[in-house]
Amino acid sequence: MQILRTTEQATELVWRWRCRDASVGLVPTMGALHEGHLSLARTSVGRCDHTVTTIFVNPTQFAPHEDLSRYPRTLDADLEGLRREGVSAVFVPESDEIYPPGFSTSVQPPSVAQSLEGEFRPTHFQGVATVVLKLFHILPTTHAFFGQKDYQQLCVIRAMVRDLNVPIEIVACPTVRETDGLAMSSRNRYLNAEERIRALRLFAALDAAEQAVRDGQRDAAEIERIMQATLSADGPEQGVDSIDYAKLVDSQTLQPIPLIHDRAVALIAAKVGSTRLIDNRLIDP
Ligand code: AMP
Repeated sequence: MQILRTTEQATELVWRWRCRDASVGLVPTMGALHEGHLSLARTSVGRCDHTVTTIFVNPTQFAPHEDLSRYPRTLDADLEGLRREGVSAVFVPESDEIYPPGFSTSVQPPSVAQSLEGEFRPTHFQGVATVVLKLFHILPTTHAFFGQKDYQQLCVIRAMVRDLNVPIEIVACPTVRETDGLAMSSRNRYLNAEERIRALRLFAALDAAEQAVRDGQRDAAEIERIMQATLSADGPEQGVDSIDYAKLVDSQTLQPIPLIHDRAVALIAAKVGSTRLIDNRLIDP
């Protein structure tokens, strides 16, 4: 497994593979890898001739008050996990390599970025879209793999690729969960034992939304009320500490829908202690 530090090394290697007509999969990550990330790498290794993973904690997608400086960094274990999955190369750039002095261009994210996360983290998707487009250029792969765990991010990247004619196939991979249902996340390691229990409220709220639809409920506002009640049930000992949103929206546009007729997606962002967690579920009427 090759470790690439510069954009020149990265671009040259991918072009060398592409010149031999090989398919190449890209798996962008911020490191602190868990089974969710490794499942993306595994899917790419299974589908493409070569896989390159990136490990870069992208500063431009964090607001000043967010957790950039304490974001977990576990490079040795990350490289070991990726080697085991059969990844061909890992791009681990320093921040200057991606944002050299004088860098000032950015991607205006598509309209699907505006609601939900966009309301609570207004600069987040601009940072994500910019770094992902840069990675697509630095590593001109045939495919890129993203997790459904970050559902709105997946919608943003799909729209950007479509709108800007980026020649790459985006592959969505299912959310990997702990056995009790908690979606795996690098941020889960911030949770203490008591918070870890309360974090399960997100999964319970998604279950409740799905069950309500299965029972015939079609009113999105009512389903959102059920999710909120499940998130905050039994007072502060059992519930989450705060809810940024618990919404049921159209699965493609992420726009509000009064009544569910087609596939919808339930999305939640909530804080447990100081840790902000997100999760989602596609729901068919
Ligand atoms: P991150 O390192 O958090 O930026 O995530 C890198 C990629 O891994 C993104 O495409 C995420 O959607 C994906 N990912 C993160 N957690 C999971 C999970 N639990 N299951 C599947 N994919 C995930």
